[in-house]
Amino acid sequence: MFKIGIDLGGTKIEGLLLDETLNVVHRIRVPTPQNDYRKIIDEISSLVLGFSKNIGDYTIGICTPGSISKKTGLIKNSNTQCLIGMPLKDDLENILDKKVSLENDANCFAISEATMGSAKNYSLVFGVIMGTGVGGGIVIDQKIHHGRTNIAGEWGHHTLHQNGNKCYCGKQGCVETYISGPSLERRWKEIAGKKEILPDIVKNYNSTQFSQWKQEFLDNFGTGLANVIDILDPDVIVLGGGLSNIDFLYSDGIKNVYQKVFSDLVDTPILKNSLGDSAGVFGAALLD
Ligand SMILES: [Zn+2]
Repeated sequence: MFKIGIDLGGTKIEGLLLDETLNVVHRIRVPTPQNDYRKIIDEISSLVLGFSKNIGDYTIGICTPGSISKKTGLIKNSNTQCLIGMPLKDDLENILDKKVSLENDANCFAISEATMGSAKNYSLVFGVIMGTGVGGGIVIDQKIHHGRTNIAGEWGHHTLHQNGNKCYCGKQGCVETYISGPSLERRWKEIAGKKEILPDIVKNYNSTQFSQWKQEFLDNFGTGLANVIDILDPDVIVLGGGLSNIDFLYSDGIKNVYQKVFSDLVDTPILKNSLGDSAGVFGAALLD
C-alpha cells in the first residue's frame, strides 16, 4: 500500500508519497496559509488528492506540533494558533472520506528514526526533540506507544527543580524551561550579560561563563534523561531538533546521563538523528 505523509508546520506544509517499499515517489513543499484554518484544510486535501491519483489504496498520516486531546479530539498546545481547538482529524476525514492518522512531531520523529533512521535496529526507542520546546516519543517494535491518556514520553514537563522556572503549562521547574533553545539562550544572557543565539553561545567554549552555562545545561540534560532511563530503560535514545547539533551532548552529555542513572551498568546509546528536518514528514507517512 502507498503511504501519504503531511508535515504541517507553522511556515510550511510538506507532503510526501512513499511506495510499498518506502521509496520516495513525490515530495512537495508549500507555504502554510497564515491564520486561516479553512485554507490549511484545503491545502492539505489538495496535496492528498494530487498524490492519490492512480496509486490504488493508500494511508494518510499528518504530523503537527502540539497534541490532540484524548478527551475532546481537538488540537491543543499548537504553535500554529489557528489550529488550537479545531477538529483537524475529523474535518480532513470528512473531506477526504478516508481515515486520517494525526500525531505530534515528537511521535513522528520517534517512529521515523525507529523505522528508517539512526534507531532502526532497536526495539524500544525513546525519541527526543530538543528545540523551541522539549518533547519525546516512545516507539516499541516500530509502533508508537501512546499511553492511557496520550501523554507517554512527554519528559519535557517532568519537574526538574521544585519551585523552579515558570512554565507555560502552569507548573514550575519543567525540563523544557531549562534545556529548550529559548531557555538556554535566556540563561546565557543572565550569566554572560549579553544576548546571543545558541550556535554563537557554543563558540564561547574557553570562557568561564561558558563553563558555568555548559555545566548547568549538562546537569539538567543528565538528570532529565537519567530519569527517563530509570523508568523506561530504552534500547536507544535518539536526539532531534535544533539542539541535537550540539556536539558535546554526545560526549560530556552522555557521561552526565550515565552518572545519574540508578544502575551499575548503563550503556544506553544516545545517538544523533539521521533524517534531520525530514523526520516529521517521513514519520507522518509511516503512521497507519
Ligand atoms: Zn511545563
